Amino acid sequence: MKKLNSMNKEELLELINESQKKYDSYKSKNLKYDMSRGKPCPEQLDLSDGILDCISSTSGLKAGDGTDCRNYGGLDGISDAKVLFSQLLEVGVNELIVGGNTSLNMMYDCVSRAMLKGVLGSDMPWGKLDQVKFLCPSPGYDRHFAICEFLGIEMITVDMNEDGPDMDTIEKLVSEDASIKGIWCVPKYSNPQGITYSDEVVERFAALKPKAPDFRIFWDNSYTVHHLTDTPDQLKNILESCKQAGNSDMVYIFASTSKITYAGAGIAAMGASEANIEFLKKQLGIQTICYDKINQLRHVRFLKNMDGIAAHMKKHAAIIRPKFDIVLDILDKELKSGGAAEWTCPNGGYFISLNTMDGCAKAVVAKAKEAGVTLTGAGATFPYKKDPRDRNIRIAPTYPSLDELKNAIKVLCVCVLLVEAEKLLAGM
Ligand code: PLP
Repeated sequence: MKKLNSMNKEELLELINESQKKYDSYKSKNLKYDMSRGKPCPEQLDLSDGILDCISSTSGLKAGDGTDCRNYGGLDGISDAKVLFSQLLEVGVNELIVGGNTSLNMMYDCVSRAMLKGVLGSDMPWGKLDQVKFLCPSPGYDRHFAICEFLGIEMITVDMNEDGPDMDTIEKLVSEDASIKGIWCVPKYSNPQGITYSDEVVERFAALKPKAPDFRIFWDNSYTVHHLTDTPDQLKNILESCKQAGNSDMVYIFASTSKITYAGAGIAAMGASEANIEFLKKQLGIQTICYDKINQLRHVRFLKNMDGIAAHMKKHAAIIRPKFDIVLDILDKELKSGGAAEWTCPNGGYFISLNTMDGCAKAVVAKAKEAGVTLTGAGATFPYKKDPRDRNIRIAPTYPSLDELKNAIKVLCVCVLLVEAEKLLAGM
């Protein structure tokens, strides 16, 4: 196909005609596909059903150090879980809290406690200041942005490059503005691009000189073991880098097993300096006596160690890799030659990020919905749901079956062509 932006009127009209026919035919099939969220598919969840057989009244419900998991105690997690999660998060066992069922909840709690009470080193609670701001590398994870919006934290959009966020802007902004208290980062296989931050970016994060002494990096390493290939991306250790730069208290690291075992019924953990963890445990102890240690125990028994996690993640990859391949293959066939869009080819994670021509994403998502394909709302990957160029669409390939996915992406491609060709024609 000729490049869309070099087509003349007749060629665009022909493309519109052809695409409209395809679109109408998809529409008549009454499709009903939901690709709005990055959820594991049932086959992935089946992989973890063994977790339900790992504990029973006869298997013993004591952790490695003899803690009775049926009782209160152990606010920061059972000993065995602390060993496993310290390896997953690459922090020491004293630099860790193994928590409840989701990391989003842990992140929300951290931000809301900071608003109410401040963090280690705060002069006053963030919420008592005239203004609190977070930097939001975007496109990014919509639920991070929702936390800020809900708690009244002003969001500043920062561009994403191929090796991570635009560090020049971040360095400048945090060094000048004391009301900037935090930044959201998904440093490995980012949501939605699948980008992993380069060593240089991690080092520049660790060496930030924020004007706010209580500035925190929210390092959401959700996809740390979620590789799609045998040549996984490597992410430099942020806590170690922060220690070397004399900024050991500047980072909170988060991860969970939501997309390792059961989504919503996994284990979340956070890592930070020992001083941060001691401070946080005092606050946390008001909120809960302890988390669900029975779930921690069965996770440790099921996953065992990092080799166990790696082997388990290979089984996930075997299920979802073909789905990513199909999406990439169809995008290549349908959109590449016409230059209608650009997209990422991630080495891991849960998403593919697609950019249409400027000003088209909303219309594409709406058109796809009309034909029965629900995508993540256009704009959702930006603060306040406002994509300044209205071009980003998040594709979540994991949940639908291969057949559903094939149809859904073909519908998406037809919608992209139709909307873009109509826009170009209207501008002639
Ligand atoms: N962080 C990121 C970047 C995610 O993409 C997701 C889920 O999509 C989560 C966190 C949610 O994790 P959890 O289930 O542990 O709250």
